[in-house]
Amino acid sequence: MKVLVTGGCGFIGSHLVDALLDRGNEVVVIDNLSTGRLLNLDHQKENPKLTVHIADIGEYGAIDEFFAGVKKVYHIAALADIVPSIQRPLDYHKANVDGTINVLEASRKAGVERLVYAASSSCYGIPDNYPTAETAEIRPEYPYATTKWIGEQYVLNWHKVYGLKTTSLRFFNVYGPRSRTSGTYGAVFGVFLAQKLNNKPYTVVGDGKQTRDFTYVTDIADAIITASESDDAVGEVMNVGSEGTYSINRLVELLGGEITYIPKRPGEPDCTYADTTKIKQILNWTPKVSFEDGVKNMLDNIDYWREAPLWEPDSIAEATKDWFKYLGKK
Ligand code: UDP
Repeated sequence: MKVLVTGGCGFIGSHLVDALLDRGNEVVVIDNLSTGRLLNLDHQKENPKLTVHIADIGEYGAIDEFFAGVKKVYHIAALADIVPSIQRPLDYHKANVDGTINVLEASRKAGVERLVYAASSSCYGIPDNYPTAETAEIRPEYPYATTKWIGEQYVLNWHKVYGLKTTSLRFFNVYGPRSRTSGTYGAVFGVFLAQKLNNKPYTVVGDGKQTRDFTYVTDIADAIITASESDDAVGEVMNVGSEGTYSINRLVELLGGEITYIPKRPGEPDCTYADTTKIKQILNWTPKVSFEDGVKNMLDNIDYWREAPLWEPDSIAEATKDWFKYLGKK
């Protein structure tokens, strides 16, 4: 079967491409390499079943031709991270909102059978209840969260209005090998692994007691494919999480090393924790990789982060200035 992955050169996308190729699919990737890297698919470059197109989903009409004959679309491409979304909201809108509507239209015109969208648990903001169910109030705290949520609304609307069979999956703190290493300050794993490689202390935010529902990337890829194979998932929004929540202090314990503390940031939840009842009921899906095994796999692949920028308290303070400036004023 011919399937298409937007953002296939990125962290989650490249793991999804691996899983789809493993299952014997012909895989078309669209990526503009803004944050994705060809290196993430280097191990597949001789695979005749993989085609990569360097194109921008945000440009209307630039991607339609690649959808010919495609049965399933996995829309993973997006700009991520909090600070750059505060600094460049128009870029985020173009990639995450215009990009999504362009992918939906190209899919509709090509007669695609199924589409799965990578949504974000950031739509819950600082929720009232843990674990957090899909019915929780939507409270985006910054433009990244807002654009991903608007994208989700379009994805559901294209089902309602045009009958395109879509599903939206809200991912919680995805981690694993190839998690992004590019310039901007972002997800904790890349930051900590580069610090470990450089024998620098881990920059723990606040008291490190905050917890995250760290979900391993191959579990995410598995949930995406499972959703795309079930008609029961059509028109649904479902959380995807690890069934646990783990403190930053626990992460440091597993990685081993010294700590330096940096200030707590406004708008950051003390906990993220998915209620996964719905995906369990509808898809019978459960995660397989424990936090301990996941962290061990990352340590086994630590060389990937040799090129990652090294963040230290001063450079983090500088990089997160706008975070405090705009989100700290409430
Ligand atoms: N974090 C940290 N040090 C860092 C970067 C992040 O202690 O240098 C913490 C952060 O406070 C949060 C957790 O790691 O509690 C996950 O942060 P990330 O940015 O990966 O995800 P998010 O906060 O968006 O869930």
